[in-house]
Amino acid sequence: MATKEVTVESEDTGVEVRIIGDPVGKGLFATRDFKSGEVIFEERPLVSCQFLWNAAYGYLACDFCMRPLETAEENACRLTQNPQLTLPYPECCDTKKDAVVECPYCDASYCSRDCRESAWNQYHETLCLRSFMPDPSHPLVMLQEAWKQMHYPPETACIMLLARIIATVRQAADKEGATALFMQFCHRTVNEEEEIAHKLLGAEFHDQLEALRVMMEKGLGAPEVQHWLTPEGFRSLVALVGTNGQGIGTSPLSRWVRNCDALEISAAEREKLDQIVDDMYVQLEKEAGGFLNNEASGLYPLQSSCNHSCDPNAMPTFPYNNFHLVMTAVKDISAGDEICVSYLDECNLSRSRHSRITILRENYLFTCRCTKCEEQTGDPDVTSEEEMDEDEEEEDE
Ligand SMILES: [Zn+2]
Ligand SMILES: [Zn+2]
Ligand SMILES: [Zn+2]
Repeated sequence: MATKEVTVESEDTGVEVRIIGDPVGKGLFATRDFKSGEVIFEERPLVSCQFLWNAAYGYLACDFCMRPLETAEENACRLTQNPQLTLPYPECCDTKKDAVVECPYCDASYCSRDCRESAWNQYHETLCLRSFMPDPSHPLVMLQEAWKQMHYPPETACIMLLARIIATVRQAADKEGATALFMQFCHRTVNEEEEIAHKLLGAEFHDQLEALRVMMEKGLGAPEVQHWLTPEGFRSLVALVGTNGQGIGTSPLSRWVRNCDALEISAAEREKLDQIVDDMYVQLEKEAGGFLNNEASGLYPLQSSCNHSCDPNAMPTFPYNNFHLVMTAVKDISAGDEICVSYLDECNLSRSRHSRITILRENYLFTCRCTKCEEQTGDPDVTSEEEMDEDEEEEDE
């Protein structure tokens, strides 16, 4: 029966994971053609978690699925620091405040009863601090504070994602099966052939990591997760979330803007609305800079089997404004093609080959040999002043 299920999956989804080399090389390949703009696959993360500073600064999102819990107007008032700001067309805001529920024992909030139940059943029963004023000496509170002191925004990883993985296994009826689900992700801490170690695991972080591990063990230690709480096991768990974590961004305001774009209104009304939106974004830029979204990181089995290319043919999107990922083709893809995404954000993707390769090696432990990088092998190492600084830092290491 298990075999039958696997066959159906690979036939129907239009994609398949192939093992493409040692030691853990895999890739996702198209088994049919996809047009640019077409959905390749959709999936929910095995586990996800909002970044700690993002939550601390008041970006309100469902503690399970990251759906915004603020209205667009509340979001705009907070981010522009202008409590008087009002937004027209409130019906264009998707946030359903009536449905918001809280954990009865702590301050975790959810967009729905379903999310509260899912979180409780998967990991929150283990992680709930059972207090609205948690004891600052609780190991999980100390763990979060320690992480925040080590990782200021912009955030790229979250220690509580590790805690949720451990809690998920502890609460699972089939603990071995749950462990195996997480071990399918690449979790190597070094690339031996190329002698690169993960950025989060460098010698300079040795003491910090050990401190985090001790707190994690105090807070969540149990026989079934002990393999992740030894120094080496903890390093591999850090590498797992470091190399596989997919960023998730949600925003009530961007949804409101998008829904407003679809309104059928007169040219005069449209002009007035555009002016309001433009003025608002000027204020947002001034007060909040680039930090407009609720931000999280999640682990997605299919997405994580997509390799990187600096010239990708697919892109993860979040059209439901929660953690539900939709992989979309950004070029025409033929059956047999490998589906590749960019692990770099747009800004880093536009940098020189040298800079791109440095970032990818530090964070993802490989040297990019995509077609774009191969074409640019002859380019000079440095292309801009901004990148000079970075190169100097590198030489110091
Ligand atoms: Zn939710
Ligand atoms: Zn709770
Ligand atoms: Zn490349």
